[in-house]
Formats: sequence, C-alpha cells, structure tokens
Amino acid sequence: MKYVDEFRDGERARGLAAALRQEAQPGRHYRLMEFCGGHTHAVFRYGIPDLLPDNIELVHGPGCPVCVLPTGRLDMAMRLVLDHPEVILASYGDMLRVPGSERRSLLQARADGADVRMVYSISDALELARTNPQRQVVFFGIGFETTTPPTALGILEARRSALDNFSVFCNHVLTPAAMQAILNVDPASEESVEIDGFIGPSHVSVVIGSDSYAFCAGQYHKPVVIAGFEPLDVLQSILMLVRQLNEGRAEIENQYTRAVTSQGNAKAQQVVQEVFTLRPTFEWRGLGQIPTSALAISDDYAIFDAEKRFAMRYVPAAGTKGCECPAVLRGAKKPIDCKLFATACSPESPLGSCMVSDEGACAAYFTYGRFREDALQRQSQQRAAVKARRQA
Ligand code: SF4
Repeated sequence: MKYVDEFRDGERARGLAAALRQEAQPGRHYRLMEFCGGHTHAVFRYGIPDLLPDNIELVHGPGCPVCVLPTGRLDMAMRLVLDHPEVILASYGDMLRVPGSERRSLLQARADGADVRMVYSISDALELARTNPQRQVVFFGIGFETTTPPTALGILEARRSALDNFSVFCNHVLTPAAMQAILNVDPASEESVEIDGFIGPSHVSVVIGSDSYAFCAGQYHKPVVIAGFEPLDVLQSILMLVRQLNEGRAEIENQYTRAVTSQGNAKAQQVVQEVFTLRPTFEWRGLGQIPTSALAISDDYAIFDAEKRFAMRYVPAAGTKGCECPAVLRGAKKPIDCKLFATACSPESPLGSCMVSDEGACAAYFTYGRFREDALQRQSQQRAAVKARRQA
C-alpha cells in the first residue's frame, strides 16, 4: 500500500476485525497498552474499539509528553518567567494551557505580564533570540525521542552562531525507561496494571529503532508490536499481538516497516548523544521518579542550559485536586472514571494535562464524543443531586 486512504480502507478494516473476532480466544482477556497518545487518538478517531471483540481491551499509556511533565517542572517555567523580566519563554502551544500549581497556566502568567511566546519549533525560538539580542530567550524543550534530535540541533546551531542569549529548559524523556517502570510495578501493589503486550510507538521508534524494546520480551516476556498511526496499522498490530499471545510468543515485531528499522536513525542518535546526558532520575506525572528516564544538557553545552543559567530549582508540587491524570497515565483508570471529566474539565477549560494535549487520553475521549452521552448523563445526575441537596 502506498497512499494514506489505502490505510483507511473500510473493507480491509472489516477483514482485520473479522480475523480478530475469530482468533481472540473466548476464555481469555487481552489487555494491550498503546503507549503513545497518538495511537490513543487514532483508536478513538476511527472507532476501533467498536471493531474489537469485548475481550480485547486497550489500555491507554503515558506516551504524551505534555501529560507526563509533572506540575513541579511547569512551576519552574512559571517562576522563571515571572522572576526574570528579561526572559522570553518560547514554548509549544499545548504547554501554555496546562494548569500548574493553584491552577495557573503559562497563558495566565502571560496575561499577568510575563513574556511567553508560542512557537512551532526550536528554530522559531532561535529566531526570537537573534531578533531580541537584549533579551534572554529560553526554549521550553519537552518530548520523547522524536523531538529530542531537533532540540539537540537547535543547541548546536546556537553554539555555531554564538547566540549567548539563548538557552533550553530541557524536559526530554525516554520511552523504554517508562515502559520498564510500568512493567516493574509490583503486581501486588495498588498501582499495578495488568498488561499482556504493547502497541509500540512509531515515531519514537523511527529514531531509536525496534531493538530498543528487546528487554520487554527478554526480561518481562511481554510482546511489543510497533504500529503506524492509521486505522489499518493499529488493527493489524492488535492482530499481531493477539497471535503472539495465543502462540505463547513474546517478540518485538515491527508493523510499521515503512519507517522503522531495527537500529533506528544513527545520525539523530549521534546528535542527541553529543548534546545530552542521562539524568540519574526524573519525576513523571503518574509514574513517579524513574531512574535514567530523562535527559539533561551535557557539561560541554552547559552555557545553553537554562536550569544552570538561571539557577532553576525543582520543587515537587501536587496537580489539581480530584484530577485523575496520574492514574489515567498509568493505565489504571479511564478518563470517564474521573468525576471532573466533561463536567468541570473540558478542552476549553482543562483541569489536568491529559485534557490539554492533542495526545492526551481525556482529550481523545472528549473530542471524539464516544462517551459524551455517559458524561452528559452523569453531569445531569450530579446537577440533580446538587439541586436535591439544596432543596433538602
Ligand atoms: S478529565 Fe480532566 S481532571 Fe479528569 S483526569 Fe482528565 S484531565 Fe484530569
């Protein structure tokens, strides 16, 4: 297949769905985690749950960079821009709407006078530094392995052009470490989530290669199938996982062969290695502290490290009261399990990171309206309960 509409072909989708119904063993429950928020959105956008037999359950994972950034890191950016009037903070749009401590977002900080600008890439931030030589431009770097190479290239460009008013607040995180953290949770603990296999992230895998997940199969006996983002990609990957599980296999398979190789992109890996170093530990929203799960700017490029330049300090902070993002990100709860879903929390007025981002599970549930009826029903029940209490 060559063109995108071929990967959305209804006839082929029905064929894959029929194969799944036939091959999923009735006495068995299959719990498959789609790690990446891009897959969560594809799943709901194309109505994939409607095509699956009841005993195949999709568990949503933490693969949304905006969602997993803990409140304390967002507060660091907020303090930076409020305490340093010389700073222009350049950030991707999603980050601006996430509520930090006391429900304040960077957009609200901007309304209070902070200089926060939305950018589409690190190149925009470099341009801001060039055109504002009297100001300090800080790029709010977030993302998994997909967005790390562009940040590394931006830092290399800043050094090449001797941009001394540019730095990066680095929050880049690593996929395999998060998968390992999920698999490491003690099955007896309340935090544990039963997972039979992973639908592996595709864009990340273009960079790091499919071999990076070997530990899932080798150490934990969990199969991984790296999947593209089109509906047929996702359905085929589910079928590949079901077949592995039925046959008692745990292998790393690559459905997305049109872009992913076993070794990944060596050049991208090289620039990342040149500019970054592993942090000993990093806090993830929902997953807590995970050892060696994030990157910092290496000593050779320390002058571009905003944390060092502005002596930024991390202070852990709680998210919005009642927000279930941590459990949603672990796969332990679904967005509709949150009492705030589609009542107090919506994409227009998000109370947690999972409702903000294009890759957040709550935003996926809300946007594609799959559970809107349930949510609206609950909303009206809640309203009726409040009214009844008032009348009593
Ligand atoms: S619905 Fe809103 S408050 Fe609830 S978990 Fe999702 S983002 Fe958090």
